[in-house]
Amino acid sequence: MNIYGLTIEEMEEYFLSLGSKAFHAKQLFSWLYEKRIEDYKDVTDIKKELVEVISKDYSIERLKIVDIQEDVDVNKYLFELSDGEHIEAVLMRHDYGNSICVSSQVGCNMGCKFCESGRRKKVRNLEVHEMVLQILMIEKELGERISHVVVMGIGEPFDNYDNLVKFLKIINHPKGLAIGARHITVSTCGIVPKIKEFSELDLQFNLAISFHFPNDELRSKIMPINKAYPLDVLMPALKEYVEKTNRRLTFEYILLKDINDTEECALQLAKLVKGLNCYINLIPYNETNNIEFKRSNTVQIMKFYDILKKNKVNVTIRKEFGSKISAACGQLRSKKEEL
Ligand code: SAH
Repeated sequence: MNIYGLTIEEMEEYFLSLGSKAFHAKQLFSWLYEKRIEDYKDVTDIKKELVEVISKDYSIERLKIVDIQEDVDVNKYLFELSDGEHIEAVLMRHDYGNSICVSSQVGCNMGCKFCESGRRKKVRNLEVHEMVLQILMIEKELGERISHVVVMGIGEPFDNYDNLVKFLKIINHPKGLAIGARHITVSTCGIVPKIKEFSELDLQFNLAISFHFPNDELRSKIMPINKAYPLDVLMPALKEYVEKTNRRLTFEYILLKDINDTEECALQLAKLVKGLNCYINLIPYNETNNIEFKRSNTVQIMKFYDILKKNKVNVTIRKEFGSKISAACGQLRSKKEEL
């Protein structure tokens, strides 16, 4: 077990279970996340014998960064986990701050046909500490603070729900990494029961839906999750989410040439989101060697954008980062493992 995997509440329980005091959790959180120690010997305000016990129960070991690729405004980090598996995280520099895209699983079982991560089955869920450490280690490497987090790396976060929520609580906690909930976005392909659970958390995290296709025929063909939760199940769940949380929802929409970039698709999409507090983020597809889909050309992207605008839909086109350094979901890991 690793110390970076504990929420502050779990740490309090741990200290109580040792017959010690709950307030040590705050002290230890502060050593880990404010002072950023890397060795238990630096803890000076908890008794040596107690620190000794903690160090036997919980490792303070970090992940290994095995590759860094740099491009304008974007770095990509390849991490090696203790069992030799690899995951990626991407740092993006925006005018509003530094944002990190973190992975939630090794591989992914969702099988979206356009996505590099989905080409290989899930190997395992990431542990809580493996998510927390992606951020902590990149901050150290960079020497700058991370202000925003998106869970949009490898994996489906709602397929690793319990670990995801603990991770979010640790990075959001004022004594943890203190990243504001409104600066944290979780992206899902649309696992409906978890969307409901997420809305009940009563925290201000943002939710993004990898929507991509505005009808069941297309969506089921390319995103298998749509067979389990088709649009007439997903859309009401999203409406309910917005009503319950009062948060604006993000729809991600990858534009694939001649597949979902037509006028008909734009009109279908506009109709589906009518009246819903949301905005649509159009994403130029990041082409990848192993997959046959092509990116829509710029004229088509602008046409699509204009139709949505005309239909009074909030829409933006995502700024592109790192197409030169394989920054699309799963590409770097695939290279490393030559898949
Ligand atoms: N499983 C989650 C989060 C990881 S994928 C989800 O589905 O939302 C993060 C986002 O990247 C998703 O919207 C996914 O559809 C998108 N994506 C995957 N491959 C891509 C590519 N080659 N180019 C652009 N976006 C891609």
